[in-house]
Amino acid sequence: MIQKLLDKHYGDYLGFIRRAMIKDQIQSRGVKDPRVLAAMEKVCRHCFVTEDMVSRAYEDYPLPIAAGQTISQPYIVALMSELLGLQGGERVLEVGTGSGYQTAVLAELAAEVYTVEILPELARGAAERLAKLGCRNINFKTGDGAAGWADKAPYDAILATCAAPEVPPELLKQLKAGGRLVIPVGGKDSQDLLLITKTASGPERKTICAVRFVPMTGGG
Ligand code: SAH
Repeated sequence: MIQKLLDKHYGDYLGFIRRAMIKDQIQSRGVKDPRVLAAMEKVCRHCFVTEDMVSRAYEDYPLPIAAGQTISQPYIVALMSELLGLQGGERVLEVGTGSGYQTAVLAELAAEVYTVEILPELARGAAERLAKLGCRNINFKTGDGAAGWADKAPYDAILATCAAPEVPPELLKQLKAGGRLVIPVGGKDSQDLLLITKTASGPERKTICAVRFVPMTGGG
């Protein structure tokens, strides 16, 4: 009984600091898309971190997850999601499932999400976590996401949450005409977040800001 009460209060508290995160870290830096803000409010970031990190889940940082990887900073998740310009009916490919946090946000914003993770341990953990949370529109694959997920292509939008030295050509190939690809590109310590739009006259690149993601590993 007392445990139930404590759990409820802790849950209310986490909801309160999640709303503060949206105002102080995300809206204050210019993210405006109401669907993105609603998704960030709905998805419990504390459900995607290890138990010892729950109390820090709504801080303004990436946090360590298993296998030396990280869960992205909330603002960066919101920014990248907004850049995809999703309306709700899209099919989206994500490269780098990690904890599954960004995946869950995408699942709120699009019709169907396809996510590829190179580390089987993380892919399994994310699939279990997202099933428990009731996300049904997510398809998981273990493998090298630089090759995309060809049998399910083309995609309206593609998001990579690990940094590649160059834009993997397969990702552009699997993007629909007019589609958007958001990807960090660069070396280990400094990368640019790029928004690439596939236009009739070729890909148009726009540099958004400097970021720091874990590298895209695998054969490339
Ligand atoms: N969006 C995730 C971020 C995870 S960090 C989250 O919020 O939790 C990036 C992830 O990309 C790591 O899990 C890493 O294992 C994965 N990754 C690295 N190289 C990859 C590749 N070639 N294909 C697919 N996933 C890759």
